[in-house]
Amino acid sequence: MPEAPKNLLEETDNHHHHKNHGLVSEKNKKVLEFIEDVTSRPDEVQERVLAEILSRSANVEYLKRHGLDGRIDRDTFKQVMPVVVYEDLKPDIDRIANGDTSPILCSQPISEFLTSSGTSGGERKLMPTIEEELVRRSLLYSLLMPVINQFVPNLDKGKGMYFLFIKSEAKTPGGLVARPVLTSYYKSSHFKNRPYDPYTNYTSPNETILCQDSYQSMYSQLLCGLYQNSEVLRVGAVFASGFIRAIQFLEKHWPFLCNDIRTGTLNPQITDPSVREAVLRILKPNPELASFVEAECKKESWRGIITRLWPNTKYVEVIVTGTMSQYIPTLDFYSNALPLVCTMYASSECYFGLNLNPLCKPSEVSYTLIPTMAYFEFLPVNRRPKSVNEKLDDQQLVDLVDVKLGQEYELVVTTYAGLYRYRVGDILKVAGFKNKAPQFNFVCRKNVALSIDSDKTDEVELQNAVKNAANHLSPFDATLVEYTSYADTSNIPGHYVLFWEISLGGATPIPPSVFEDCCLTIEESLNSVYRQGRVSDKSIGPLEIKVVESGTFDKLMDYALSQGASINQYKTPRCVKFAPIIELLNTRVVSNYFSPKCPKWVPGHKQWSRVDN
Ligand code: AMP
Repeated sequence: MPEAPKNLLEETDNHHHHKNHGLVSEKNKKVLEFIEDVTSRPDEVQERVLAEILSRSANVEYLKRHGLDGRIDRDTFKQVMPVVVYEDLKPDIDRIANGDTSPILCSQPISEFLTSSGTSGGERKLMPTIEEELVRRSLLYSLLMPVINQFVPNLDKGKGMYFLFIKSEAKTPGGLVARPVLTSYYKSSHFKNRPYDPYTNYTSPNETILCQDSYQSMYSQLLCGLYQNSEVLRVGAVFASGFIRAIQFLEKHWPFLCNDIRTGTLNPQITDPSVREAVLRILKPNPELASFVEAECKKESWRGIITRLWPNTKYVEVIVTGTMSQYIPTLDFYSNALPLVCTMYASSECYFGLNLNPLCKPSEVSYTLIPTMAYFEFLPVNRRPKSVNEKLDDQQLVDLVDVKLGQEYELVVTTYAGLYRYRVGDILKVAGFKNKAPQFNFVCRKNVALSIDSDKTDEVELQNAVKNAANHLSPFDATLVEYTSYADTSNIPGHYVLFWEISLGGATPIPPSVFEDCCLTIEESLNSVYRQGRVSDKSIGPLEIKVVESGTFDKLMDYALSQGASINQYKTPRCVKFAPIIELLNTRVVSNYFSPKCPKWVPGHKQWSRVDN
């Protein structure tokens, strides 16, 4: 993810695009000193952050309700305030969404809602935010390049080609804007009106990033990236899936892009006037470059296409930790194994931290939480299954400086924007320390079974969706015996695959259209982030049901037992990731079906009206 210009340091007036290297290195030095400082005394910083949050918000309803009574010390806070999940806050959040402007969670006015890719009841979670959080987010961005500069110098001498996109926004009934955090950031003046900075010099003009139409946005960003190919020193997108989608778009559209480069004109399909103007400001006829791009794209293999078309590229910046690690082999193929750089760890709730060793292997990435961003607590993850009546013991939570090397924790945050002891749902593992501040591997998000892009589908959701779909089988006297699933990312866009074992009671064969209806019913039953990925972003392909021969799931169990599973405890996994198991299932497929069309999706929560009507 690219970095913002807003700095810890004073902005310098550098309108003339002079690359003042003394100045750059001075700024870099200050940033590294800041990191040294806050990681050397994280506990002190955390205590101050909590006191600041609590004293500012002393009057808010939520803190009063729990009896915090204006106290700002850690001990009282931990004694009095409950550890919560989104559902606990939903009534308060709904009030804010419906227009209650009294200080419920935060004393500062809620400026907008950030719509998380985490869902509740099938809809995106709404995270309240305040204007000031943009400054905090910008600060984290401003730390990234000085860190990378220690490992890859001279990145200020060229450009970054980053594929960045905005998504649609909606309005809550109370009139607050609701949109994803990056859309909010790119539309803010912190991004749009950033002063010249060699580190935020991108090939994509702002207008191409801010274009709502994802086709025009992608086309124009690729065109500008290709046209400035020799200046590009680094490439990327937020998630690995998005970057690969850009390459795939190039595979489809290079003849048009080459034509534009050759003639210095812009494909008439690009109709957005501000995009046209911005692109035509850059583009001049360049037949030589057009022929070069054409020759490379025409080659049989696309192995190393990134380094061929953008020969000065030093690394690919994308998140490949968590479920995105499934895309590493594809990225290696296209980039000739350039370093894959994961720079930061962030969410709608809060921006957390950054990777201080950006050239490390993806499997070794660890993030250092920056103690000024929020107040962090850690709930030890107990692999031992909890008994039903065992309650969460709030006292188990430990502070940032008390986490133990090698131990896994669930992250709990208290933010300036009005979340108090909120469980983010991410599991982190302590991998080491920077000074006194812990560094964490991202282990996983709790309860995510399937994910292709930013969608996160858990087993319960999948179970309900499958149940709805299996109803289509009953007229044929057929029942679903067993099922499992996996995220197939061997093609782009990836798609969900379900393996179904069916027991046929009747004599009537089940027509393919019935299975296609099943596919669509599952998609309609999945959450709004999934459906948005299908409909708007086109980042997820049609769901597939593969019917397997009877007895397949017994074979699956035999396999698990042969690998040491206990027969008493064996349960069919609702999601499989291990290649030999997927292989076993695939060899027993008798027929397969795809969802025939996109499920329904509208921006915003179902019950809201759209911002543009
Ligand atoms: P959202 O709330 O939609 O902005 O998504 C935030 C979530 O994305 C986090 O809670 C993580 O689960 C995931 N995420 C963000 N950054 C990373 C990262 N660097 N590596 C792995 N997962 C990440």
